[in-house]
Amino acid sequence: MAYDDQNIFAKILREEIPCKKVYEDDYVLAFEDIDPKAPVHILVIPKGAYVSIDDFGINAPADEIVAFYKALALIVKEQGVEQDGFRCIANTGVHGGQEVPHFHMHVLGGKAIGPMVVS
Ligand code: AMP
Repeated sequence: MAYDDQNIFAKILREEIPCKKVYEDDYVLAFEDIDPKAPVHILVIPKGAYVSIDDFGINAPADEIVAFYKALALIVKEQGVEQDGFRCIANTGVHGGQEVPHFHMHVLGGKAIGPMVVS
């Protein structure tokens, strides 16, 4: 799937629309989900143009991949959820229910999220 630079996260990265930023470095931006499903619901995205987690894994250079997971770990600590735990979700494609075609990791925490549900 080709990257669509009109997707909403691309617009956030270009600062065409605002976000509630919680973290930024050279490779990564993280912001609050606009429709939070838990007390902590952060979206962590690479600044590079990757459609999905598999696109990211295959096509991103190693320094971008390392930066992404290092940032995610820092964000989890900053958000205060590393002690009690959290859930990371990367919805992917049609069957994965992905709405925004720019790779993003949901980080959910701040309460017990419950069992993993597939329906
Ligand atoms: P997904 O289904 O994994 O593609 O999730 C996309 C997520 O992006 C949803 O949880 C939306 O609530 C969230 N979202 C959509 N637009 C915005 C926005 N402008 N700012 C923050 N989060 C957004």
